[in-house]
Amino acid sequence: MSTYDIEITKEHEILRQVARDFVEKEIRPVVDEDERNHRFQRDIVSKMGDLGFFGCVIPEEYGGSGMGFLAHAIVTEEIARVSGSLRAPFNMQAMGTAREILQYGNEEQKKKYIPGLVKGELLGCIGITEPDAGSDVASLKTTAVKKGDYYVLNGSKTWITWATVADTGIFYAYTDRSKKYRGISAFIVDLHSPGVTTRLIEHKMGWHACPTGEVFFEDVKVPAENLMGNEGEGFFYAMGGLDNTRLSAAAGAIGVCRAIIEESVKYATQRKQFGQEIGQFQMVQEMIARMVVETEAARLLVYRCACEKDRGVKNTLETSMAKYYSCDVASRVADLGLLILGAYGYSGEYPMERYLRDAKLYQLIEGSPNIHKIIIANDVLGYKKANR
Ligand SMILES: Cc1cc2nc3c(=O)[nH]c(=O)nc-3n(C[C@H](O)[C@H](O)[C@H](O)COP(=O)(O)OP(=O)(O)OC[C@H]3O[C@@H](n4cnc5c(N)ncnc54)[C@H](O)[C@@H]3O)c2cc1C
Repeated sequence: MSTYDIEITKEHEILRQVARDFVEKEIRPVVDEDERNHRFQRDIVSKMGDLGFFGCVIPEEYGGSGMGFLAHAIVTEEIARVSGSLRAPFNMQAMGTAREILQYGNEEQKKKYIPGLVKGELLGCIGITEPDAGSDVASLKTTAVKKGDYYVLNGSKTWITWATVADTGIFYAYTDRSKKYRGISAFIVDLHSPGVTTRLIEHKMGWHACPTGEVFFEDVKVPAENLMGNEGEGFFYAMGGLDNTRLSAAAGAIGVCRAIIEESVKYATQRKQFGQEIGQFQMVQEMIARMVVETEAARLLVYRCACEKDRGVKNTLETSMAKYYSCDVASRVADLGLLILGAYGYSGEYPMERYLRDAKLYQLIEGSPNIHKIIIANDVLGYKKANR
């Protein structure tokens, strides 16, 4: 089978329709108010869990549907078309937590955490980033020291999605700093444990209905059974997890591109200047054409990436291509969408300004554009193969 094969089945289309119906009924009516009021709706996350949205990449025995990565990308795209904030659970409940535990956890951990995460009963989070450790994951400072049958965790994490609302999370800490990145381990941490405190990051550009915050660990006792996989392999699990969470971000970027195009077309066929619809002006048409073609190209990369994962192909390179390109396109498409709506694009009465804020974030999370270009260029130049 060629690596470019993308097969969208009837089941995928049914799932897409279920997601579309859900957003129209449950998300679109409240999204603007929730964003304005910075209101996180756990209830909506639970409903998505009930519908099986987080279980596509999880086998049935752990509460998932096993429909696969393309199914996951399709649902993510549909949700992100209406709300960036509610795209986050696709990583918090599925790719960054449940799927990661499925890949690297032991049987007890899989049984204990995955069904609750997939159902949306247990809210998850992923804790890699620290004040001095962004792209450079190995520079993290959090430590975990083993004392008998538990580890003592000390340190802090920042920019953690759902820090203030999550029940549990996968956190990365040094168990042996002398081994550099080979001394990082991964822990499943109960965020209600003594010694864990969180603080909301109050002011951010967008995703207001999705709380982001800091997590502080002060002598937190983490049972030894909560070590995920083996000591010293955390860095590799984090990278493996990113291979999956990047697909969600890329699919989210396609979703917001579609929203921007729909809003631009609606506006361009209503707004009249110089006696005609602005959509009749060739320069506006050029912008619309560019937005549509680039979005379609990005979508093909994202679907190709998802289908490869469904076939069990290790595709860090193709994931970086899909993530880099789709998020870059979302940012460009958002710039054009804003221009098409002119002053009204800048108004809170139209969704365009929110779409623009949603779109910009996709470039920042799950690896910056530079990081993805480094992965791609190193592979192509033969310095470091990505799909090892
Ligand atoms: C809303 C939001 C939610 C987030 N959620 C989470 C979460 O749930 N969990 C989590 O762990 N993290 C989360 N993050 C953090 C996110 O993953 C980081 O922002 C990301 O890892 C990049 O780190 P940084 O922002 O510190 O940028 P830096 O790494 O400081 O990079 C700054 C700039 O330098 C460039 N740069 C860095 N290194 C290189 C290099 N080697 N070559 C060339 N250029 C380079 C980058 O491309 C970028 O342009 C979130 C961030 C935001 C904004």
